[in-house]
Amino acid sequence: MAERVRVVVMQAGLGPLDYAVPAGMVLAPGQAVRVPLGPRMITGVVWDGLAGPEVALAKLRPVAGVLPVLPIAAPLRRLCDFVADYYLAPLAGVVRMVLPQVALLGERQLSEFRLSGVMPGRMTPERAKAIAALEGRTGTVRDLGRAAGVSEAVVRGLVSAGVLVGEVRGAADGLAVPDADFAVPVLEAAQAAAADAVVGAIAAGGFAPFLLEGVTGSGKTEVYAEGIAAAIRAGGQALVLLPEIALTAAFMTRLEARFGAAPLVWHSDLGTAARRTAFAAIADGRAPLVVGARSALFLPFRRLLLTVVDEAHEQSFKQEEGVHYHARDVAVMRAQFEGACAVLATATPAIETQVLVSRGTYRHLLLPARFGGASLPDVQAIDMRRTPPPRGRWLAPPLVEAMRETLARGEQALLFLNRRGYAPLTLCRACGERIQCPNCTAWMVEHRLGRRLACHHCGHEMAVPEACPSCGEADTLVACGPGVERIAEEVTRLFPDARLALVTSDSITTPARAEALVKAVTAGEIDVLVGTQLVTKGFHFPDLTLVGVVDADLGLGGGDLRAGERTFAQVVQVSGRAGRGEKPGRVLIQTHQPEARLMRALVAGDAKAFYAAETATRRDLGLPPFGRLAALIVSSEDEGAARTAARALGEAAPHRAGLEVLGPAPAPLAMLRGRHRMRLLVMAGRQVPLAAILRDWLARVPVAGNVRVVVDVDPYSFV
Ligand code: ADP
Ligand code: ZN
Repeated sequence: MAERVRVVVMQAGLGPLDYAVPAGMVLAPGQAVRVPLGPRMITGVVWDGLAGPEVALAKLRPVAGVLPVLPIAAPLRRLCDFVADYYLAPLAGVVRMVLPQVALLGERQLSEFRLSGVMPGRMTPERAKAIAALEGRTGTVRDLGRAAGVSEAVVRGLVSAGVLVGEVRGAADGLAVPDADFAVPVLEAAQAAAADAVVGAIAAGGFAPFLLEGVTGSGKTEVYAEGIAAAIRAGGQALVLLPEIALTAAFMTRLEARFGAAPLVWHSDLGTAARRTAFAAIADGRAPLVVGARSALFLPFRRLLLTVVDEAHEQSFKQEEGVHYHARDVAVMRAQFEGACAVLATATPAIETQVLVSRGTYRHLLLPARFGGASLPDVQAIDMRRTPPPRGRWLAPPLVEAMRETLARGEQALLFLNRRGYAPLTLCRACGERIQCPNCTAWMVEHRLGRRLACHHCGHEMAVPEACPSCGEADTLVACGPGVERIAEEVTRLFPDARLALVTSDSITTPARAEALVKAVTAGEIDVLVGTQLVTKGFHFPDLTLVGVVDADLGLGGGDLRAGERTFAQVVQVSGRAGRGEKPGRVLIQTHQPEARLMRALVAGDAKAFYAAETATRRDLGLPPFGRLAALIVSSEDEGAARTAARALGEAAPHRAGLEVLGPAPAPLAMLRGRHRMRLLVMAGRQVPLAAILRDWLARVPVAGNVRVVVDVDPYSFV
């Protein structure tokens, strides 16, 4: 029996610590425990496979007690190790994401217990009697004591030995159980072939990653739903990750129609009670189908057989706070550790994903056509230099004309501009002052609906000033450039009778509002939709036949290596909203560079050519996935401290073949939330052990206490 254990303690800045195991206590890896730290008791998790010197046993303090929650299983522990190692995150920070909330709250929160399957290290006749009597029972300490005919002290002893674990009260009682055979669709040939591959892989068992590529409207959901059905039939569980979980009522309804029961939804805004219920149902397998946001990746599934990443190209799967992981990649790793299938579903696979297919790492499943013979929309570019809109307007004459025709036919139009608010910049006509956020290197965005200026980086808000804050002149401030609110205003001016809906995170703030919108559009109560990227997601409106992309050039500036790819995916996605019913769709793209490769590919519907050229450029420049990147963001409220630390890191930068360090340089977003920011960018060959080099580098450079260094491995943000 182990005399000592290594424990990952939930304490910022502390690595794993060793503790002695008191006599009679059995500790399995993954078990949550209470351990002494100085004068306090803190929570930790017994961990395995951690290297490091050992302190003499006699000097170790003992583990104080076991928390009555199920241990974290080995595949999830290995996922934590991987994430901590790959993304250079403290293991404790990763373990915290998987630790049951009850463990973080402490055992006081638990009132009912049941057998865990763990046997006590010290068996007594009373304990044996209790264990025999409590099989299949759940209850309070008092209930269980009575039922077993032992004292409450014996029951409590079994709780602290991990023999009895906390049962979350009312957990998922009455949870509807999805039925794999509830409403099985008839698949088209390509769908059936793809579904068979996934179902076959689940039946065979073991890790199998797939890219499920299909144009918008090709019925990818129906394909992976067969995978879900196979997982359910096998007595296992499936997880579907979505990039945006708040506004997905339509998607949930579809899954419910397929399985006869709504999936269990997991996201970070769940209330404590719902969270506990969900957690328990996932841990004991009563929830076979979970739909969730990124954080669902770290749930303690009992038997995970399939992970699906829908809209897998979405860059919002990259977590930009705390542990900077990419949920798409971690979903595949989770499947690997669990020996499960992984399906990445998208119409526009990321170049990273395409390259993994070409290397043979992922199997490729392709749905080449829209379901039911619907045609893809006709795409045309509008040259904004040749047919510009009138001064102070943003919709070019050909787009306005197309809208007129569409509305005259009683059909619907959608205008897409990925910019919230009314105007991105407010300028003083007299002195040229631009109104900036006091905390960020960013302009304040006017929100006319809310009558305020807002910073989209830190959330700072202010009233729209009456006079210029710089020169004091009254009535000199003018709004520059359009946001969706301004486009909506223009539509109202052009088509006063059109019924208009604004679709942004400012207007669609709750699932109920999203549902109401979908209903109104489907019922033909809306003529024109104006929206940000929220409108690109998953909607299916048969009478929507015209899509206008207001500014296709918008996302292309700046030093983001994926800007072109992102624009391409976004336009394809929003175009995919057009012509999904019987009526053919039409897409008009406003651009100042219709001759650019990207625009030509969009017009020709030639994704292959676009990706081939982008991929070749990445290969030539050694950019991901042909090389690797890591960003170091050094920030402090004290500008000098940030500079000093960044310089010290730059001077201590590793020198070796296949690795180059750029910077330090002030970040494009030089100030964010009041912190001054410097960046360094590491470019490395694929064979270079990047994580180890970064870890060694950071360990060599101590930084001041008021400086934060954030490591962003495989960065998606370059600001
Ligand atoms: P994608 O996710 O690939 O864009 P969807 O899964 O939204 O496409 O499918 C497009 C439409 O076709 C949806 O309304 C869906 O219900 C329908 N559909 C797809 N496959 C089938 C099928 N086999 N039987 C019936 N309807 C289907
Ligand atoms: Zn700000």
